[in-house]
Amino acid sequence: MTGERGPDGAWRAECLLARGVRVVGSAHPVAGSTNRPAVCDRIALHRCDLAAPAPLAALIVASAPDELYHLAAPSFVATAPAEQHALMTAIVLATQTIIATVAAEVPHCRVFLAGSSEMFGAVDVAPQNEATPFRPRAVYGLAKLCAHQVLDYYRRQHRLFACTGFLYNHESPRRGERFVTSKIARAAARISRGLERELRLGDLAARRDWGYAPDYVAAMAAMLRNDAPADFVIATGETHSVGEFAARAFACVGLDSREHIVVDPAFVRPPEPVPLVGDATAIRQSLGWRPTQRFEDMVGEMVDAELAQLTTTAAQDK
Ligand code: GDP
Repeated sequence: MTGERGPDGAWRAECLLARGVRVVGSAHPVAGSTNRPAVCDRIALHRCDLAAPAPLAALIVASAPDELYHLAAPSFVATAPAEQHALMTAIVLATQTIIATVAAEVPHCRVFLAGSSEMFGAVDVAPQNEATPFRPRAVYGLAKLCAHQVLDYYRRQHRLFACTGFLYNHESPRRGERFVTSKIARAAARISRGLERELRLGDLAARRDWGYAPDYVAAMAAMLRNDAPADFVIATGETHSVGEFAARAFACVGLDSREHIVVDPAFVRPPEPVPLVGDATAIRQSLGWRPTQRFEDMVGEMVDAELAQLTTTAAQDK
């Protein structure tokens, strides 16, 4: 598994360990990173940099996995040419190295690649499904599309069991702070405890198809248990606005979000022409997968986790 320290890597590793499966994970070698889910202490964790993937290839050969979840990818907004080059290298060339290594050394291994709704990008139809043409708007989406093409090439040429999940946004208490859901859940908890007064957000009307990360990780596993490799959209098919997310999060702590939100142009991004919302009919019909967690409950779980974290921190500070 690559991306072991990310939310999906941690959720997937926990499921596998519960079934007694040996898990080998790789994570970016960030010195002093605080983002280390507890599950990392229970698996063989290796430091591998996607920008220089030779050690990752060696790790695949040495561990000879039956399943490989390639979840790692930098997801920063790349504007300067050098940043765009770095993003393409870490996403496309690393994927090529991983899949070529599997094809040459462990061809029985089943590979899952984390694709993204951003591969659809500037679409003119909603919802999107597996037949929707790809039109990425940002280099991240372009890189994920190229990585998917790499996977498709090796799948066809080497008859690999490899597939891409086109993952729409998926949230959980493990979501990173830079995402708006985590930012809102944290602020609602902190404001309710009197630690902060306001929350500065961008466009409250922006909409996302927000799913629950553990459900999406279950979809990945189902895809690798399929009879034949196939790519699927993994989504809820529903969108909610940032304002709705905030209203629900603040309601969980008995507050009215409108009394605490300040719209700050610094966080406003250009709106999408057509909302990214996925049609997951194909995976439901083929594999019986469907989301289990309702939007309201997911928001509540994220806020509860932030409140619990504040309680723990306060107890430690005493
Ligand atoms: P992503 O854009 O899908 O990778 O996920 P984000 O969580 O970063 O953003 C989701 C949506 O929330 C986007 O349409 C943003 O424009 C919107 N948004 C509104 N205010 C904020 C904010 O303060 N921070 C972030 N990250 N996004 C915001």
